[in-house]
Amino acid sequence: MTPGTYYIETYGCQMNVHDSEIMSALMESIDFSLTTDEKTADVVIINTCAIRGKSQHKVYSALGRFRQTRKNNPNLVIVVAGCVAQQEREALLKKSELVDLVLGTHQIAELPVMVEKIRRERVRITKTDFSRDVQSLGIKGVHPKKNQVCSFLTIMQGCSNFCSYCVVPFTRGPEQSRPLDEILEEAHWLVSNGIKEITLLGQNVNAYGLDLGSRGAGFCTLLESLNNIIGLQRIRFTTSHPKDFDENVIDAMASMDKVCEHIHLPIQSGSDSILESMRRKYTKSEYFSKIEALRDKLPGAAITTDIIVGFPGETEQDFRDTISTLDQIKYDQIFSFKYSVRPRTAAETFPDHVSEDIKKDRLAQVHELQDKITSEYHKSMEASTVEVLVEKDPSGPSGQASGRTRTNKIVNFESPITDLVGLTVKVRILEGLKHSLRGKLLQESLNKKSI
Ligand code: SF4
Repeated sequence: MTPGTYYIETYGCQMNVHDSEIMSALMESIDFSLTTDEKTADVVIINTCAIRGKSQHKVYSALGRFRQTRKNNPNLVIVVAGCVAQQEREALLKKSELVDLVLGTHQIAELPVMVEKIRRERVRITKTDFSRDVQSLGIKGVHPKKNQVCSFLTIMQGCSNFCSYCVVPFTRGPEQSRPLDEILEEAHWLVSNGIKEITLLGQNVNAYGLDLGSRGAGFCTLLESLNNIIGLQRIRFTTSHPKDFDENVIDAMASMDKVCEHIHLPIQSGSDSILESMRRKYTKSEYFSKIEALRDKLPGAAITTDIIVGFPGETEQDFRDTISTLDQIKYDQIFSFKYSVRPRTAAETFPDHVSEDIKKDRLAQVHELQDKITSEYHKSMEASTVEVLVEKDPSGPSGQASGRTRTNKIVNFESPITDLVGLTVKVRILEGLKHSLRGKLLQESLNKKSI
């Protein structure tokens, strides 16, 4: 088969970003090369997200965009992958005559074979079965990009929590952990290919291994094994669920030098009645106790969260409880969204839906408060010195390099020295901005080899 080019478009979360990396690796394994020009691609992959209605609509507008591309190139293969593919299955082929392959979340490994079959036989295919094999989640075998120092590593797929608003259990299936040895093998391989920072991915990472029963290691054992890898500098993980994030994980974070001082712990709402209706399986006070324990053992840790406003039945008082929670915890950063109905979820049938106008207004209030909190945090860091793992060498007229602190803050800094990627350097913070920090490289930290 003649190799060609592929174009890939990704919507949604880090999990999807990593799935796209795996799909790219698979396409490159059959000698396809990436193009950023969708009009000339031989294969277009749309990797979709179904978490919010908005992301789902994007898929159909993207397909509309490719109508002309298909007219210009009748041999173009269009693949819809990810959660919308999983949700819609065959219906997607009926809804859009442009789609050649509907590739479900467990079928990523089938991508090269299916693309070649479609190019050869011009058939239309749906591949959306759930599988018990989670091996296809690995990216091993394809080298990280030039100057890439951070990588995702999927440790499990799916979720068994069934929060009442969420489609993930339907689109990604139940929790399935990858075997420990397979994860470690991939981590070693990444490190031997220049990766210094690994982010462990899963919908519910602290539940890692529970589905493997006595055969499996738990999340803390996994962290310990990764912490022993020579050459690996930083370990992060996302997403944690408050019900599974416990003292053991906090102790592991506090005692293991490579595990970064940052936790993303989605609270979703500050109201107990909304949390119950969301089926989150924790109360506000249980959540607060965990934050207290974390701050006690890791005082400088950054804490981030997710918030949903306008969940069905959310009263003004429920919303005020969320606002006061943000005010009390003072997260470093939050990701906040308006509730949107997702098909097949329990909340789809809940009464008392909140109007769009109220949702919009509540979201704006959340943004306003959090922007203030984040800006204050960043301002308080001015004149301090932070440790940055450099991800991008100086570029542009002002020679700005960039990287992140262990607490996951983005730092852009002036550097007269090039070739810093992969080094951990010290940076003096000059200015705390809304979404990042601006600083200056402390050159003496390089000279003293304190990197
Ligand atoms: S924990 Fe809840 S919100 Fe998170 S993926 Fe699972 S069902 Fe969805």
